[in-house]
Amino acid sequence: MKTIIEPFRIKSVEPIYFTTKEERKAILAKADYNSFRIKASDILIDLLTDSGTSAMSSNQWAGIMLGDESYAGSNSFFKFEDSVRSITNMTYIIPTHQGRASEKILFTVLGGKGKYFISNTFFDTTRANIEFSGAEGIDCICEEGRHPTTAAPFKGNMDIAALRKAIEEKGAANIPLVMITITNNSGGGQPVSMQNIREVRAVCDEFHIPLYIDACRFAENSYFIKLREEGYADKPVPEIAREIFSYADGCTMSAKKDAFANIGGFLAMQDLDLAIRCRNLLIITEGFTTYGGLAGRDLEAIAIGLQEVMDEHYLQYRIRSMEYLTNKLIEAGVPVMQPAGGHAVYLDAKEFLPHIPVDQYPGQSLVCALYEEGGIRAVEIGSLMFGKYDDNGKLIPATLELVRLAIPRRVYTQSHIDYVAEVIIEVFNKRNELKGMVITEETPLLRHFTAKLAPQPQTLNAQP
Ligand SMILES: *Cc1c(COP(=O)(O)O)cnc(C)c1O
Repeated sequence: MKTIIEPFRIKSVEPIYFTTKEERKAILAKADYNSFRIKASDILIDLLTDSGTSAMSSNQWAGIMLGDESYAGSNSFFKFEDSVRSITNMTYIIPTHQGRASEKILFTVLGGKGKYFISNTFFDTTRANIEFSGAEGIDCICEEGRHPTTAAPFKGNMDIAALRKAIEEKGAANIPLVMITITNNSGGGQPVSMQNIREVRAVCDEFHIPLYIDACRFAENSYFIKLREEGYADKPVPEIAREIFSYADGCTMSAKKDAFANIGGFLAMQDLDLAIRCRNLLIITEGFTTYGGLAGRDLEAIAIGLQEVMDEHYLQYRIRSMEYLTNKLIEAGVPVMQPAGGHAVYLDAKEFLPHIPVDQYPGQSLVCALYEEGGIRAVEIGSLMFGKYDDNGKLIPATLELVRLAIPRRVYTQSHIDYVAEVIIEVFNKRNELKGMVITEETPLLRHFTAKLAPQPQTLNAQP
């Protein structure tokens, strides 16, 4: 087989910023060893997130110029609505400024104390919006999804028995909806099979519970189904996507992911009564129903991006990029999550740095080393992000200590990815020199965004 190439050529370029290792050491210290505190202009390859970081196409930029900024009933809204409907077949389509705004509206209307929502895995903003309403979120991820380094084709699947058990336990009347996240972001971008979606639908039907899709990466998930699920190899991706949505009563979407947009999202549903209640909230918090917190030009970019993302040459290149980097790392013996997910590569920091105890944040130590060695920005997904303290101030660590390298869409080329692999392998070869970290300052909530850290050893003068 020939090399899978980037399915685009480059018309407009943006500089990346070279620094020396000495400079990066100083930058890291100044940023208190937290990658969120580093200025973007000090980063060479930015793999912090795939959200809102996509390169738009020439068509999308042309669409920007066609943006109709009318307050009500703009042309751009109708293009947006047509595009979303052509994929989801939803009747009521509500634009929002990003995914969490859709969640905030949906769960404010449906949530509240005594309510339960069930998912394969709720993404963190989704869970936060559920809990903020007073309701509870329950994750029912399948067994394979719990083992990061064991390969399986659909590790994002819902555990059907656990779903049924949760419904019976909490009572169907207290469960306003079940939600499937495709691909499962918090579980490493692992896909959900069509078979699993059908089975979840059947359980929902049995208990008369609506099924919603968190559709942020619907195209990547559809392509995995095409590659891995029997009976789908010859089906076009748009057809697979339409089948997924045919089982759903509604969906939420962040257009910052699989719509190649830098901002935007939507909420869509079949239920008129619910749509009216959501639109009422939308008008208070986001804007009028035909723009929902977005400029007309954003609606144009999303309308176009949603169609472009289903191009199979693009999806082949996209999924192959993750696999390519993952395989290079596996060959070098680097512990990495398997199989490759749809949007990111995850390093297993516990295995990478077995000499650093979890209360010294091995993931963050690795994040810092990747920056210092090669100017790469990654993010820790482990005890810095999810750790809590017990009553004695002792860390309750996260289950996994991962470092995520999220790949922006259409932004980096194969040589960038080769460089990333080289840097990771270089750090791996001198992993014994890496030191643990200590937190010197933190906030009680979402501390990873702003926490200050320092390398060990360090006097612990600011521990809670
Ligand atoms: C990013 C994301 C969201 C939230 O979307 P924002 O646009 O960041 O608010 C929700 N669900 C999943 C699976 C996501 O990846």
